[in-house]
Amino acid sequence: SGPLLDVRNLHVEFRTREGVARAVNGVEYSVDAGETLAVLGESGSGKSVTAQAIMGILDSPPGFVTQGKIIFQGRDLLTLGGEERRKVRGARMAMIFQDALSSLNPVLNVGEQLGEMFTVHRGMSRKEARARAVELMERVRIPAAKERIRSYPHQFSGGMRQRVMIAMAMALEPELIIADEPTTALDVTVQAQVMDLLAELQREYNMGLILITHDLGVVADVADKIAVMYAGRIVETSPVHDIYRAPAHPYTKGLLDSIPRLDQKGQELYAIKGLPPNLLHIPSGCAFHPRCPRARDVCRTDDPPLYRVSQHRASACHFWKETLGDDSVPSDDT
Ligand code: SF4
Ligand code: MG
Repeated sequence: SGPLLDVRNLHVEFRTREGVARAVNGVEYSVDAGETLAVLGESGSGKSVTAQAIMGILDSPPGFVTQGKIIFQGRDLLTLGGEERRKVRGARMAMIFQDALSSLNPVLNVGEQLGEMFTVHRGMSRKEARARAVELMERVRIPAAKERIRSYPHQFSGGMRQRVMIAMAMALEPELIIADEPTTALDVTVQAQVMDLLAELQREYNMGLILITHDLGVVADVADKIAVMYAGRIVETSPVHDIYRAPAHPYTKGLLDSIPRLDQKGQELYAIKGLPPNLLHIPSGCAFHPRCPRARDVCRTDDPPLYRVSQHRASACHFWKETLGDDSVPSDDT
């Protein structure tokens, strides 16, 4: 059998008054059961839009999938009707967002919200559903779960609220979870706890997990592989350890160099110069060329394909070899 999720040549456009914004331009990635894929990139790189297309929650109009396939458990989701799609979204895949407060219903207590998953989707009685809700709250390690299920979303701390959202996502034991910046709004220590919990549940239930983040620092310990996105494209894919050892794309290298490091305290942090491109006017050739320290003439004219770097690695840079060579330790993933 193939991967759990296989996204092929996905294109998404937003039709705006100013013109067509090409938000996703041929994205390809796959996730197996029990595997964690981190999707990395600055805001506007198309990582969230790709996730919304997978979940079937794209803001449409103005957003449209114009090309591609989203194959989940062997079926192309883009060929399913609305009702079937909703069923997949309810039970087989779930999404966790950055802002739990705006994703949870403010006027229902969390016991009612969690319970609804079981009464609506599993036909349980309210009493059974309540008992399952308490179990779930305990499973995501919310203290005093029996009492806390009567609390409303705003009565939880940011970290605890994120745990409630994880419980909601886990309720129907989906095969795939997409977490979009799940810890970005939290303190660093709470971030690590929530990330650990997510990784633990992912292993326990053998789920596929897509972790969307702009922060390479948070995914090192939990991801199996990484896809780096820029201007609606994948620019590098790699097993997680190789990418930290030796990035094969200058953009990835820039992201790595911008991670704060303990041994560099007090030093000014590196930042990639310039801004991500306007998706209405993506630069010619390599879209990264206006910001790339390695850019040469060919980069302005020739759009780099995704070059095969090794069996499990690819880079959309004409000069991936030189980029790899910048680092003293070569990649041994061949
Ligand atoms: Fe930089 Fe050229 Fe590589 Fe693009 S193709 S990342 S501009 S070196
Ligand atoms: Mg986003």
